Amino acid sequence: MGFERRRSFGPRTMHKIKCSDCGKDAEVPFEPKDGRPVYCRECFPKHRTY
Ligand SMILES: [Zn+2]
Repeated sequence: MGFERRRSFGPRTMHKIKCSDCGKDAEVPFEPKDGRPVYCRECFPKHRTY
């Protein structure tokens, strides 16, 4: 089916965050939740806890 709409580039809602690990300003493509640590893309893989 042709319902896949993949835009590898294009507008995406980015949210400004401050990385809880390295302290850098970063942007994440998801909405950060209050009280939860958010990480930049470099630190994110280190903190994946699923
Ligand atoms: Zn970081």
